[in-house]
Amino acid sequence: MRSPLWSPGARSPDAVREDGPSAFPQARRAAASNLLAMWRERFAFLGLGSNVEDRLDHLQDAVDALNADRRIRVDAVSSVYETEPVGGPQQGPFLNLAVRVATRHAPRQLLRACQAVEAKLERVRTVRWGPRTIDVDILLYDDRTVRRRRLQIPHPRLTERAFALIPLIEVAPGQILPDGRSLPAALAKIAPIEGVTMVGTQVHMPSQAPS
Ligand code: AMP
Repeated sequence: MRSPLWSPGARSPDAVREDGPSAFPQARRAAASNLLAMWRERFAFLGLGSNVEDRLDHLQDAVDALNADRRIRVDAVSSVYETEPVGGPQQGPFLNLAVRVATRHAPRQLLRACQAVEAKLERVRTVRWGPRTIDVDILLYDDRTVRRRRLQIPHPRLTERAFALIPLIEVAPGQILPDGRSLPAALAKIAPIEGVTMVGTQVHMPSQAPS
């Protein structure tokens, strides 16, 4: 039985904002934050997408592979949405979903874990925003803001992308963005919404996946 630790809009009172004022140099704060994350679970929200071969299989394999990481527990899986590609070359439609995970990875370790799942599913990076077996992005991590060269949280294009926001709202209905906006308010800003169609709940929690 998975414990319902997360509640909408939950914020950790002692959450460390990586851009917040502090007497400590950035490196020491990052080290302290990594240490904290090693023994405390945090909730993070990931966006997954696939637009080649058997897209549902790739999404399920990615959810299972994430959960197989001993520092990640998949806690909720959204519906699956078929979405029109945004940017990049001409390519087939995506299937997208979002997952809520409880994790003991710090943000940068979590990015590495997501990239390991992409590598395991043999994602080949050829063209930016081109077709891919699987894409795993960190959309939100707790209530933190991260601004590093290789990792920005919230995901830098989250609030421009209905295909990321709509499934995210399912697994994080009351979550507040670091700028104070709700996710539905961010979605309303990019209305009218086109090219995002719910197709069902074919991707399961790892323990419920049919064998
Ligand atoms: P993409 O090819 O669109 O999946 O982008 C992957 C690149 O985006 C990687 O080099 C990451 O370092 C970078 N990146 C920055 N912020 C994030 C994030 N929140 N989640 C995933 N990748 C990110």
